[in-house]
Amino acid sequence: AVLDQIKAMEPLLNSFVTIEEEKALEQAEEVQKRIEAGELTGPLAGVPVAVKDNICIDGMKTTCSSKILWDFVPTYTATAVENLKRSGAVILGKTNMDEFAMGSTTETSAYGATRNPWNPDHVPGGSSGGSCAAVAAAECFYALGSDTGGSIRQPASFCGVTGLKPTYGTISRYGLIAYGSSLDQIGPVAKDVTDCAAVLEVLASHDEKDSTSVERKDCDFTEALRDDVKGMRIGIPADYLGEGLDLEVREAVLKAARILEEKGAILETFDLGMVEYAIPAYYVIASAEASSNLSRFDGVKYGYRAKEYDGLHGMYKKSRSQGFGPEVKRRIMLGSFVLSSGYYDAYYLKALKTKALIKKAFDEAFSKYDVILGPASPSTAPKLGESLSDPLKMYLGDIYTISVNLAGLPGLTVPCGKDSKGLPIGVQFIGDCFKEKNIIRAGFAFE
Ligand code: GLN
Repeated sequence: AVLDQIKAMEPLLNSFVTIEEEKALEQAEEVQKRIEAGELTGPLAGVPVAVKDNICIDGMKTTCSSKILWDFVPTYTATAVENLKRSGAVILGKTNMDEFAMGSTTETSAYGATRNPWNPDHVPGGSSGGSCAAVAAAECFYALGSDTGGSIRQPASFCGVTGLKPTYGTISRYGLIAYGSSLDQIGPVAKDVTDCAAVLEVLASHDEKDSTSVERKDCDFTEALRDDVKGMRIGIPADYLGEGLDLEVREAVLKAARILEEKGAILETFDLGMVEYAIPAYYVIASAEASSNLSRFDGVKYGYRAKEYDGLHGMYKKSRSQGFGPEVKRRIMLGSFVLSSGYYDAYYLKALKTKALIKKAFDEAFSKYDVILGPASPSTAPKLGESLSDPLKMYLGDIYTISVNLAGLPGLTVPCGKDSKGLPIGVQFIGDCFKEKNIIRAGFAFE
C-alpha cells in the first residue's frame, strides 16, 4: 500500500531521492516469516520506514542530496538503522533533504525541491523535508530525520507531523554523515507522539562506534505515554512570543498551552534570556564544524570527480567547485573564516562561550520547570523560492530550534492547528537533558 502511495504522490512531492521497491518487498516477506515463527514481536515489525539520505545503509545509495555524492554506495549501515532492522523494520528508500542538511526548506537539494503535501506551492521545511513530507502524505508510517539546528522539529511543524530530537548522545551518530558533529542527532518523524516514542525506544542505544554515545538506563520512553500532566510545571519563554512571531502561530501555540493548563499543568511565562545570541553562535559553530567535516569530499576516495583538471590541487578545486551547491559553499567559507588564525578568538571562541551561557540559561529554567513550551518556527511554511534568495532571512527562521541543539536538549514538535491558508502549525516542547519522558508526556496529553 505504501509503495502504491509513493507512486501516486512522488510526481507531485519528490519526497524520495531513492526508492528500493524490490528490496523492500523482499524484506517484508522475510519479516513476515519471522513474525509467523514468533521471532519478531515488537511494534515495529513489518512497518515500512523511510530514511533521510544522510544516513548510511549498506548497498543503498546515500547522496546527502549533493552532486558530490551522486554515486556513493556505503559499505556499512548506521547503528540507528541496524536497530530498526533488528526490530523488523522494512526500509522503503532514502528521503530528500537540503544538501548536507544545510537549510530549512529542502530547496538546496541537488535533486530538486520537495513540496509540502498540504499545499505544493509551499516548502515542506528542512532539512528533513523529505522525511516529514513522506510521513504527512502517508508514503511511509514513520521516517528517520536528523536535527543539527531544528531539521526534524521545523519540517515536522510545517508538514503537520510529529518529530522528536533526543538529548545529544542518545542515538548513535555512527553512519550519519556529519554536518556539525557536536550538534547532530538522528530522530524519529511519525504521525503522533505514541509512534515517536515507540521508534525512539528502538533507536536509543549505547554504541562503541560513537564516542559521544551515552549509556542510558531510562529508555523505556513509551512508559511516558500517560494522559497525565497534573502538577507538571510548564514555562513559556516570553522571549519566544515577541517580535517576528506570526500572530496565527502565536495564537495556536498559546491555545495548546491552555489545553494543558485545563488538564492540570501549571503554566507560567518567564524570561529565558540569551535568545538573540543563539543564531549567530549556532551559525559560527555549525559552519566551523561543517568546514572541517566536509574537507573529506575531495574527489579522491568517493563521489564526484571533475572530468578535466590540472594537477592534484586542480582536481580538488574543480571537483569541489562543481560538486557542492551554493549554500554548502557559503557554510564552508564562513566556517574556514571563523577558524582561521586571527579570527578564531573573535568568532569561534566567542561562539563557544555563548553556547555555554545558553546552556546556563536553560539550566536555570529547568530548575523551575519540567518542560518549556513555545513555537517551533516563527511562521508557517513559506512559498517555494522565497527563502533561496535571502539566506539570512532563512537563518533567522531557526530562532526557536537551534538553542536546543547548542544546549544538547531534547525537543518535540506536535501539530497544534492550521493558519488561515490551511498550513499546519506546530508547538514545541523542550525538556532538560535526558528528560525525554517529560516532553513525551506533555505532547501525548496535548495531542
Ligand atoms: N536550518 C539549520 C541549518 O541550516 C538547521 C539544519 C539542521 O538541523 N540540519 O543549519
